[in-house]
Amino acid sequence: MDRIDCVVIGAGVVGLAIARALALAGKDVIILEVEDSFGVHTSSRNSEVIHAGIYYQNKSLKAQLCVSGKKMLYEYCERRNIPFKRTGKLIVATNESEVVTVKDYIKKAEENNVDDLIWLDKNQVADLEPDIKCVGAVFSPSTGIIDSHTYMLSLLGDAENAGSVIVYNTPVESIKASKEGFLIQTGGTAAFELQTDTLINAAGLNACDLAHSIAELDKAFIPKPYFAKAHYYSLSGRSPFKHLIYPVAHKASLGVHVTIDMGGNARFGPDLEWVDDIDYSFDNSREEAFYDAIRQYWPSVKREWLQPGYTGIRPKISGPTDPAADFLIQGQKEHAVKGLVNLFGIESPGLTASLAIANVVKKLVENND
Ligand SMILES: Cc1cc2nc3c(=O)[nH]c(=O)nc-3n(C[C@H](O)[C@H](O)[C@H](O)COP(=O)(O)OP(=O)(O)OC[C@H]3O[C@@H](n4cnc5c(N)ncnc54)[C@H](O)[C@@H]3O)c2cc1C
Repeated sequence: MDRIDCVVIGAGVVGLAIARALALAGKDVIILEVEDSFGVHTSSRNSEVIHAGIYYQNKSLKAQLCVSGKKMLYEYCERRNIPFKRTGKLIVATNESEVVTVKDYIKKAEENNVDDLIWLDKNQVADLEPDIKCVGAVFSPSTGIIDSHTYMLSLLGDAENAGSVIVYNTPVESIKASKEGFLIQTGGTAAFELQTDTLINAAGLNACDLAHSIAELDKAFIPKPYFAKAHYYSLSGRSPFKHLIYPVAHKASLGVHVTIDMGGNARFGPDLEWVDDIDYSFDNSREEAFYDAIRQYWPSVKREWLQPGYTGIRPKISGPTDPAADFLIQGQKEHAVKGLVNLFGIESPGLTASLAIANVVKKLVENND
């Protein structure tokens, strides 16, 4: 039976970034992916925003890894010619009662070492985005957008150049941990067994279920998963916007915002719906709610300009009534299973933070933590 240094389960942006980091550190790495391509789930069903690091709880992993990951990601994109743009983002106060909340983002960001946010009055906003109606906005210059597919392709290329192998159509079905490492049983048409010293569970929406399949792992370390579905509408025709436009954030999401893709097309979303299953079907009855939300800051939008776009699902580990959970990255110091790293709740800003998350995991592996 084959034996390998590291197995990474999941070829989303986080699994690929981890595989790359481990391979560049000299490890033999195999990536096992159930789908027939990389990044099919959350990593291609998001807003593709490089987040500045504004909203997250001070000192949380989300805050720290977003801010360090953003810097690493911009540098990586520049070095590797990955399409990206520092568009900047406006968080708009649509009425006087939102001004305090919006201005508070400046303080909140400073706590996270993001000190470039500025307040713009409505005339200054009109200079940047004439179609936006608001009483003022906070401008974040370091927010941007990225072509996430090209980014993932580049991560995979780096990992493969450093000797990694990716195996598609390969669901990991069972994992047995012992002092000698892990015995992994896969399914699929060409099922096989594999032994490894290090196992990285980067299975996204499936990470908690997968962790439950490891009999030797104390289940107290596995959080309860929650799925929060997101819909996006796209704007037909040319985007009038050059910047990303965000309303005031809600508890579990950032609100229906405007993002622009690298082709200059605008899309609106995401909204939030708690669901039980991974089902990406599009529910067009949400159009009315989107239209209402967008009109708050773009009064001249016409309903017929909204076209059903796509959906995504946030891999949450806090439920509708819980405080927002942080990323949960557990190594053996926590759960006592040698060589195992579990990644739970890697929702937004996981794309922005991916290179920084990969470094955290690499250190856990190298230090046997
Ligand atoms: C609506 C939405 C908007 C977002 N917007 C942003 C944003 O603008 N900026 C940002 O920074 N972040 C954003 N995010 C977060 C970001 O998309 C995620 O953090 C990131 O994509 C997570 O990547 P991942 O590799 O952990 O998960 P995934 O991309 O889901 O990858 C997990 C992989 O594991 C595979 N897998 C699962 N089970 C198994 C198994 N048993 N065997 C083998 N393979 C398996 C899956 O097929 C999948 O390919 C957003 C997320 C959502 C949902």
